Amino acid sequence: MAHRELLHRHRSVLPKWLALYYEEPIEIASAHGRRVTDREGRTYLDFFGGILTNSIGYDVAEISDAVRSQVDTGVLHSSTLYLIESQVELAEKIAHLSGIPDAKVFFTNSGTEANETALMLATQHRRSGQVLALRNSYHGRAFATVAITGIRGWSASELSPIKVSWVHGGYRYRSPFKDLSDADYVKACVADLREVIETATAGDVACMIVEPIQGVGGFASPPDGLFREFKKVLDEYGILLVSDEVQTGWGRTGEHFWGIQAHDVVPDAMTFAKGLGNGLAIGGVVARAELMDCLQANSISTFGGNPISTAGALATLNYLLDHDLQANAAKLGNRLIHGLRSVAATHPVVGDVRGKGLMLALEFVGPAGEPNPAAAAALLEEARSRGLLVGKGGLHGNVIRLAPPMTLTEDEADEALSILTKAIEAVPA
Ligand code: PMP
Repeated sequence: MAHRELLHRHRSVLPKWLALYYEEPIEIASAHGRRVTDREGRTYLDFFGGILTNSIGYDVAEISDAVRSQVDTGVLHSSTLYLIESQVELAEKIAHLSGIPDAKVFFTNSGTEANETALMLATQHRRSGQVLALRNSYHGRAFATVAITGIRGWSASELSPIKVSWVHGGYRYRSPFKDLSDADYVKACVADLREVIETATAGDVACMIVEPIQGVGGFASPPDGLFREFKKVLDEYGILLVSDEVQTGWGRTGEHFWGIQAHDVVPDAMTFAKGLGNGLAIGGVVARAELMDCLQANSISTFGGNPISTAGALATLNYLLDHDLQANAAKLGNRLIHGLRSVAATHPVVGDVRGKGLMLALEFVGPAGEPNPAAAAALLEEARSRGLLVGKGGLHGNVIRLAPPMTLTEDEADEALSILTKAIEAVPA
């Protein structure tokens, strides 16, 4: 069978660490709206692709038209050494939306490259290679970003020269501060931050990088306001704050356009990628001009900000603003989390339901509350067999992540809830 043969060829020629989902991996052949169809003709409701790439769904005419008009000029890309109107317009929009005063934007091809750039800016600006990161973080796969990735299973090299110190404030469910009230949790994390700066670093830290909700780490969601308290401490030491908005940007959390805004604080820089291109490769950094312009040497990304990606991203951004998809994320996220909480209440295999907007997660546990990755793996397969694609994640691989496109409808949210309920019931306790 063609599918089996492709899988065999994939395994022979691509690296073993490039993991595929599912016992029988899927090959997506076509898609529309929130549904994808595989090579065998089976259609699935996609409850994960929204955060990976397709923030507003598949086959959106406005995006295809924007890309097609650029293709029709005959220029897929020439060079970022020349002026590109859609790039400038997109940068202006993002600078304005960022809320960062006097902001400038640099475009990259991925989230990894965006975070590498932010780290380069912060370390150059502060003339220090010391960085603070949250435990249980994921920031990318290149040499500096693997170093600031706190999930061991995703930090493929320990040989990076970046110096990192780890701070609490991400994954609370299994932290020593789990049972504290929100206010006491914030106090404990702030005390930890101060202690780490004072005792584990030479004091000359360049920056702290945070995910407002940890993505790969299983949508671990700190209490609102934590990062404002962090920023007060960071300011005492002149340490910059970078918010990695690769998963939390563009209104996905429902309440705010950027995840960090739940903390009522303006970071020095934000990084973004994934959903901005609705499937096209684009990422970037938005930062205060003084920080962005601190590099003395030239630094260019050949494809970062190319006209296909920026035309598609501009159309995506306009679409999600024009249709107020942030409000839709808030409304349907609410509906979903209530439904999930009531399922979890009668199924002890689900130990925690968390997240915001259309970024929701279920943590699977064993009888004594221990991580239960087997249950999460079983849920993934059970949901798929019922026509729903979801994501996996978490420090222990025991979290199921739900992140549909932000154009999700009420009927689709209910359909997913009903499939998930049956799939959870089918998971061995
Ligand atoms: N930051 C976060 C928060 C991410 O979730 C990811 C990707 N999972 C990245 C950075 C890296 O992005 P990319 O895979 O585009 O390099």
